[in-house]
Amino acid sequence: MQVRSTTTAKKKTKSKASATKPQQTPDLHLEREAAIFRALDSHQLGYLKREQILIALEKAGLHLDDPRLVETQKRLQELDPPNKIELEKFSGAIAPSVALVEQALQGRLVIPDFENFCTEMQEIYDVTKTNTDGTVADYIPQLGRVNPDQYGVSLCTIDGQRFSIGESDVRFCVQSSTKPINYCLALETNDTEKVHNHVGREPSGRGFNELALNHNGRPHNPMINAGAIMTCSLIKPELNVADRFDYVMEQWAELAGGQKPSFSNSVYLSERQSADRNFALGYFMRENKAFPENTELVDILEFYFQSCSIEMTADMMSMVAATLANGGICPSTGKRVFGPETVQNCLSLMYSCGMYDFSGEFAFSIGLPAKSGVSGVMMIVVPNVMGLCTWSPRLDRLGNSVRGIAFCKELVSRYNFHNYDNLTGISNKKDPRIQTMANESDLTTMMIWAASKGDLTAIQRLIARGASIDTSDYDGRTPLHLAAAEGQCHVVELFIEHGAILNPVDRWGGTPLQDAQKGNHKDIAKILKSASSN
Ligand code: GLU
Repeated sequence: MQVRSTTTAKKKTKSKASATKPQQTPDLHLEREAAIFRALDSHQLGYLKREQILIALEKAGLHLDDPRLVETQKRLQELDPPNKIELEKFSGAIAPSVALVEQALQGRLVIPDFENFCTEMQEIYDVTKTNTDGTVADYIPQLGRVNPDQYGVSLCTIDGQRFSIGESDVRFCVQSSTKPINYCLALETNDTEKVHNHVGREPSGRGFNELALNHNGRPHNPMINAGAIMTCSLIKPELNVADRFDYVMEQWAELAGGQKPSFSNSVYLSERQSADRNFALGYFMRENKAFPENTELVDILEFYFQSCSIEMTADMMSMVAATLANGGICPSTGKRVFGPETVQNCLSLMYSCGMYDFSGEFAFSIGLPAKSGVSGVMMIVVPNVMGLCTWSPRLDRLGNSVRGIAFCKELVSRYNFHNYDNLTGISNKKDPRIQTMANESDLTTMMIWAASKGDLTAIQRLIARGASIDTSDYDGRTPLHLAAAEGQCHVVELFIEHGAILNPVDRWGGTPLQDAQKGNHKDIAKILKSASSN
């Protein structure tokens, strides 16, 4: 059976091969799909069931609502009959996300044994849930009224593998976990030097809302109240207050892969009413001429209270953290939200200043950048691996979530996630990740393959990671050649938008335009001609 489907596949590719690679016989590209197929077809039946494919993706940690899988999902749903999917149909269905599906099903996402990893996360959750120490913040009634027993934990890896436990879809206000995001937004809209003319980058050694500035009359860092009020004044000051708020909400949504945050007006009103200290900090900084010129102090303070009143769930917040873990590119959409330098700066300050008066101890014993807030949220980043969010409202006396801290302690006791853990395998801790440092030739192969299959998402991610679109294989075949030969019109358009070289020549002297003409892809030929004449 298996032999039969492979033969069919080869037969079909012969004719394609002539359009793609004039003098080569086996189509290596379809061989890759056959390998994925075989891996799933463990009983060698020669066909797969739809459920089997979906379950395998879920086991790898990919949710079926993942934006990268939407088209593949749709194609799989349309397959009839759903229980006898042969190689050819399988290849067609997975084409829009072929690179991701291959990585997932061949155990090449950043945490390959995701199921096992999640079992351990559940164990840590269960152990830490029994801890009922601490008290809920009650400086505003809206926080004081929250059910203290709630506990949600979510994680999202840089490849978009996701897992959630407990109350992970309950909305809470982000409070101080807005501070790193506002700092990033300030960095994105100003140069770093300008931002740090107004706010320092040293731990303060003082309380998070203490009436104190550094020796330059500036707030010590962006992770404490004074510094966060200051970064608010640096975010798009040219916009009116309403547009600025919209901008911030949109950025949160981008960070969370398109999931929209909400806003608690009652938290905002309460914050504003009990804000004597924040007003005092604002006036103190104004007295010291710390703000940029023309800052409207009250507007800025209100904007700061509004930022604290944004609502997210642990699930959404873990994706925000994952975007930071992924150098500013959202894992599920592949969109770059922040530049790598912005993220590096932010993580450095989260590492040294993100956990109130426990920051030094947290950096020492946990060794990860994190930011907590008085609603009981903790956003934790394992750079280049994943983002985590824990939410549990009971706080210790320093204002950090008791269960959140306990979760982190347990996490780094099992896994080598501490920044200074040794990664060469000599410690007793486990390393759940695989080495994902793709070299240039891997990126080229991936780009060419994705182009031939029409996998736009993978191409966008590769571009965002810095892969060149004008790269070529040993035959001088570029991604544009392959996209043109295979009739992948959207891919050709995307390459043109990104300024691809339009007439690269392969070793047989062929250009993408000739490939399109040979394959009778008139639409593509037209696009290429008109792009070349511009
Ligand atoms: N809205 C709080 C304040 O500015 C933030 C508290 C926090 O989470 O640290 O006082």
